[in-house]
Amino acid sequence: MTAQITIRGARLHNLKNISLSIPKNQLVVLTGVSGSGKSTLGLDILFKEGQRQYLESFGLITYGVSKPPVDAITGLSPTISVDQHLTNHSPRSTVGTATEVYTYLRVLYARLGHRPCPTCGKDISPSFDSSDAEWAGEAGVDEDDSAPEGTFPCPQCGAPIPELGMAHFSFNKPDGACPTCTGLGVVHHANLKRLIDETRSIRDGAVLGWDDFQTDFHIPVLQTGAAYYGFAFDPAQPVREFNPPLRDYFLYGVESPIFRRHFPGIEPPPTVRQGRFEGIATNLLRRYAEHIQDPDYREKVEELLIIQECPDCHGTRLRPESRAVTVNGANIVELSRRSLGEIDDWLAGLPAVFTPDEMLIASSILADLKERIARLVEVGAGYLTLDRSSPTLSAGEAQRLRLAALLGSGLSGLLYVFDEPTIGLHQRDTRRMIDVMRRLRDLGNTVLVIEHDLETIAAADYVIDFGPGAGKNGGQVVAAGTPAEVAACPESLTGQYLAGRISIPVPPRRRQPNGRAITIRGARQHNLQNITVRLPLGLLIAVTGVSGSGKSSLVFDVLDRALRQRFYGAGGDAPGEHDSIDGCEYLDKVVTIDQEPIGRIPRSNAATYSDTFSAIRAAFAAEPEARRLGLTARHFSFNVPGGRCERCEGAGVLTVKMHFLPDVEVRCPACHGRRFTRETLSVRYRGRDISEALEMTVEEALALFQNVPAARSRLQVLADVGLGYLQLGQPATTLSGGEAQRVKLAKELGRRGTGRTLYLLDEPTTGLHLADIARLLGVLQRLVDSGNTVLVVEHNLELVKTADWVIDLGPEGGAAGGRLIAEGTPEQVAQTSGSYTGRYLKELL
Ligand code: ADP
Ligand code: ADP
Ligand code: ZN
Ligand code: ZN
Repeated sequence: MTAQITIRGARLHNLKNISLSIPKNQLVVLTGVSGSGKSTLGLDILFKEGQRQYLESFGLITYGVSKPPVDAITGLSPTISVDQHLTNHSPRSTVGTATEVYTYLRVLYARLGHRPCPTCGKDISPSFDSSDAEWAGEAGVDEDDSAPEGTFPCPQCGAPIPELGMAHFSFNKPDGACPTCTGLGVVHHANLKRLIDETRSIRDGAVLGWDDFQTDFHIPVLQTGAAYYGFAFDPAQPVREFNPPLRDYFLYGVESPIFRRHFPGIEPPPTVRQGRFEGIATNLLRRYAEHIQDPDYREKVEELLIIQECPDCHGTRLRPESRAVTVNGANIVELSRRSLGEIDDWLAGLPAVFTPDEMLIASSILADLKERIARLVEVGAGYLTLDRSSPTLSAGEAQRLRLAALLGSGLSGLLYVFDEPTIGLHQRDTRRMIDVMRRLRDLGNTVLVIEHDLETIAAADYVIDFGPGAGKNGGQVVAAGTPAEVAACPESLTGQYLAGRISIPVPPRRRQPNGRAITIRGARQHNLQNITVRLPLGLLIAVTGVSGSGKSSLVFDVLDRALRQRFYGAGGDAPGEHDSIDGCEYLDKVVTIDQEPIGRIPRSNAATYSDTFSAIRAAFAAEPEARRLGLTARHFSFNVPGGRCERCEGAGVLTVKMHFLPDVEVRCPACHGRRFTRETLSVRYRGRDISEALEMTVEEALALFQNVPAARSRLQVLADVGLGYLQLGQPATTLSGGEAQRVKLAKELGRRGTGRTLYLLDEPTTGLHLADIARLLGVLQRLVDSGNTVLVVEHNLELVKTADWVIDLGPEGGAAGGRLIAEGTPEQVAQTSGSYTGRYLKELL
């Protein structure tokens, strides 16, 4: 009998006390309609419990990680989850450092780089004696890569030259980093125009963000400091009238070279009481540097900064001495601008130019690099350049880098849980992704994949189909077995699609272009090759192409930002490079619906975000009992004082800070998690109180509030986009990217359409089962029917085949992409040779 993971009596979220077995060392797909319970089982139960059991096996106590409500889980292995969350927000991380390809290149440059002698300027080729143990020895990455201290004489002029080490090529180490930007490649200045209103005085609130308390605190400090240096400071004087020393003191502070220039002989005051002032701009930059790892904080502060390419290293991050070192004529900076695939080609040419002695050193480094890069190419990341900053990677790209690292680890006996690994992947690359997951399995691991893609499902060893519906109507295993067994099961919706018994129909007729169009001319952002693209309006348009071909650059960086600037004025991000956009006069609005989370505060939820909750609150306030108690709509809000529980401020939970450990949430002892006061809860609408209303799903609320038109219409759109299973009060922070996107879509659909709106959607099928996609399509088609234009960036061919117009970019990712390969109806694109999308589309038409 094969080894199994056995789960008995799982009841978390919507799971209906289910028991099941999962074969180990197999490729297993968990599927089912959105909200059926796949992630609950895969991530919330198996992943968390796998981690917990593993930590406990080391005798570690896992505070804050409670056991999931499951009777028993046996046969679990240590678990690794490969989800779509970015793990590295540091601007110091790049594709090169994250994959360690750059690290290996540093070894190569440190050992084999050519450089000019700083004194005579002649090339100092490294010369070594192959018997030298230090040179010929183990060539891997040094554990200790601090810079070597020694020097050697220049073979040409005899001058002493410092030895090179790996650290000289690291922009994250002082020995290698450009001193001006400390290796960030950019420099920051405070945006004084935003930070300070120079027409006002300090007393009048010239400084953004200083409240009365701060103003009262700082005025005497500034006065004392001014007296210390012997100039005057008047808190009632507008900042623009400050004389130069006062201005520099106020902006840059006593320690800054800019201010000290005025008083070279005077030591700065040592304490705040004596007038030590840090400077408004200096303070902002310091706080920014201190929070460099905190994306939320950074985003806030960045609005007050001007970020420019570093004038000294021109964004290359490295010291000039390090940039002067070459291997086969290229310096490490030029190499960093290349894609992983191009680096592979460059490496292949090295054995021909290296001497046998050099090869002795290089061969193991080259072998390691080749293997590493091969894995990255295999997972579909070969087009990424080394210098690409990690925080700018898309979720799918980040996930693929992690996958390559896991492949390289060669570990076995693990349970891997993947969350939709085909996100962002073209059909062409899905096959490769399946091969990679099979290799992980063949190393002796269990690979569990949460996935909707039919090709992946068909390639699995074992499929578990959740359902039958979503939320309350799901939470059960409808079918489990080989793909053929599931396909033969009439109760399984997935099986129906797998067997081809149901499919999304190809529309019998496409909408015809009405002559109006938007034309983007000369788009050159990122890899776009100066292309001109025409978008016929009033249609459902799909922009397709392999990952990295330039879809997002065209649609979101160029089109979206340019239209935004035109319709809503400056203030947003500057549009990506392009010459012009014609035809904007046919539109009056652009709505972008992406997968960014809606709000980082747990107080927001689908009901508040979609405005459903105000209609619900009004319905409660209109009840006779509410009128008798004098309660208004405001009292039914958990965001403002009045009717909410004040102990937890309407959250229903209290957060207990644990030193050195993650915070723990406990149910509020005052309201028992019900969020409102007893009085507020005494008001009932058709038998339910406000707290119960928040616990309902969209479908349930739809039935309850059918006589409240404002609530009903908003709930209906939430249901239409496939969120009928969602609990109204579920915190927005716990929604998946796809769910957040559908909540945003619902909000937009709830608004009156202008009929001249352009909707831009980024992979709207993320997280959706084919049955959900069919429904979403209905919603999108309705938008187009009322005159609007809907443009989707999409890989899912089931959606692409229903579009009126397809724009296919490619042919490949990165530098080998960025061109317009095909445009027209799906039928026309299917006839275009050289279009990967066309090739796969043909099979569906
Ligand atoms: P799937 O992965 O199949 O889309 P999920 O496992 O995410 O479905 O969700 C199953 C059900 O559990 C849904 O009704 C969902 O709203 C609910 N759910 C998911 N996460 C939470 C949570 N953190 N708190 C409460 N309910 C949740
Ligand atoms: P797609 O949306 O088709 O996957 P993208 O438009 O995201 O493609 O990417 C096109 C090219 O531009 C790729 O080579 C990608 O690595 C590069 N790119 C995307 N975003 C950035 C960025 N912020 N900085 C530098 N290069 C980028
Ligand atoms: Zn620099
Ligand atoms: Zn409370």
